[in-house]
Formats: sequence, C-alpha cells, structure tokens
Amino acid sequence: MRIDLLSIFPDFFTTPLNEGIIRRARQAQIIDIGIHNIRDHAEGRHQMTDDRPYGGGEGMVMKAEPLTACLRAVPSCGGKRRVILLSPRGVPFSQEQALRYAGHDQLILICGRYEGVDERFSERFVDEECSIGDYVLSGGELAALVVTDAVCRLLPGALGCADSAERDSFSRSLLKHNQYTRPPVFADLEVPAVLLSGDHAAVARHRFVESVRLTLARRPDLLAGLNLSREERKTLKEEGLLAQVEYAAMAGQMGRQA
Ligand code: SAM
Repeated sequence: MRIDLLSIFPDFFTTPLNEGIIRRARQAQIIDIGIHNIRDHAEGRHQMTDDRPYGGGEGMVMKAEPLTACLRAVPSCGGKRRVILLSPRGVPFSQEQALRYAGHDQLILICGRYEGVDERFSERFVDEECSIGDYVLSGGELAALVVTDAVCRLLPGALGCADSAERDSFSRSLLKHNQYTRPPVFADLEVPAVLLSGDHAAVARHRFVESVRLTLARRPDLLAGLNLSREERKTLKEEGLLAQVEYAAMAGQMGRQA
C-alpha cells in the first residue's frame, strides 16, 4: 500500500514516520509513504497557500489551486485509490474505517490548516472527509498520522505477531483484556493466578470474561456489534454476565437506530 501526505508542514512527519512499526513496515516495503509540500505547488514570489475568506470573518482559507496542483503531482500507484481530507466535519474515524482504508492500494491524506480548505477543492477532488474526534486541532497533520498509524498496523506483516491486530480493542466489538508482565507482584498487587497456571483454556476464558466486563463498564455501546458463539454465551451465563450483555447490546442497537 502507498500513503501520500499533503501538508504545508512536511517536516511534521519526519520523526513519527521513522519510528517503530511504521518504520519497520516502510523498511519491509509493506507500506510506501510519500510526503508532499503543498507550498511547492503555490505560485508567485511568496508561494501563498492561503487567502482571506470571501464574505469576511476571521482567519485564512487554504487556496484551491496549490492543493489541486499538489494532488495532481502525486504519483498514482494504480489500483484502488481514495482521496481523504482530514477535517473535524468529517465522518468519525474508527477501527472499522481503518480496516476499510487498509483495503485500498493508495490513500492520499490532505492536511488542512487555518480555517480549513476552499470548499470547491473538496467538492471536486476529495472522496471523503475524515475526523479523528470531536475537537479541533490546529492542523490535519496529527490526524493524518493517526490514520496512517492505525491503517499501517492492519497491513499483513506490519506487526511482529501475526494475529495481534485481530485481538486488539474494537476488532471484535470488545475492549482488550487487562495485561500483565513480570514481576508477579508489584506494589502489593498480584497477577491474577489463572495467568500463571499454564492452563491455556482457563487463560482464554479469563481473558474473554475480563474483556466483556471491561467493555460493559467502559464502552457498553460497543456490545451492540458483538456476535457470541454458543460456547461464549454459556461462559457469560455461568459468570452471570449474559443478561447485562444482552441488555447493553439491545440499548446500543436502539441508540444506533435513533
Ligand atoms: N475552522 C474549522 C472548523 O471549525 O471546522 C477548523 C479548522 S482546523 C483549525 C485546521 C485543520 O485542522 C482542518 O482543516 C483539518 O485539516 C484539521 N483538523 C482539525 N481538527 C480535526 C479533527 N478533529 N479531525 C481531523 N482533522 C482535523
């Protein structure tokens, strides 16, 4: 997969894209990342990328022409391509969205600044707008990095352990269970005994039940999307959790429909 980032602050990406999983994925050619300076495509002596808003008001608006020229200069790698504008007005980003993006051959992420971009650019060239949350950042660069990171870890081979993304929070409408490592006692707190038992079935059951308990306590809305196997339903019944899970799932489904 290829991801292209368009920004007026390309240096913003230098360190985050050269560390950890993204760096390894780039080295292994699992992902190819292109960084493009929108200013390089602005005309005039001052290479202006923004101008005052028509109709007056505060701030500046990113001009459509440099954005368009920069987008046109992005090499196409063929295949399924998506042009995404990072914007607080966009569709909320989620793990589901990350999975959908990971199914593309090329993502082009456009980072806004100032008050945002000229609407005509979005209308003509942008496939979708994406928001990373209900708050306003100073620019789209952090949001583009969030999307890049979440997508990258879903690409085959990007993570050290092949199936760890499948067991991450949200992958199954559940939050991840608690995790522990050495030492077995820390600050008078002991690791749950079952995790030291060597009984794989008991460990799997404990983790599943903990996942469900955590999700019920913190994100019951997620349970609306949870499909349980017969065995899992039996386990939850034995733990006295099935009725709560079913109630939360129903409430979540009604919330989604409302
Ligand atoms: N005036 C705009 C508004 O109220 O919707 C906010 C503009 S913001 C200061 C500048 C840029 O940051 C946006 O064009 C967008 O690219 C990016 N940005 C800010 N918040 C974001 C968010 N929650 N998700 C994605 N991008 C965001």
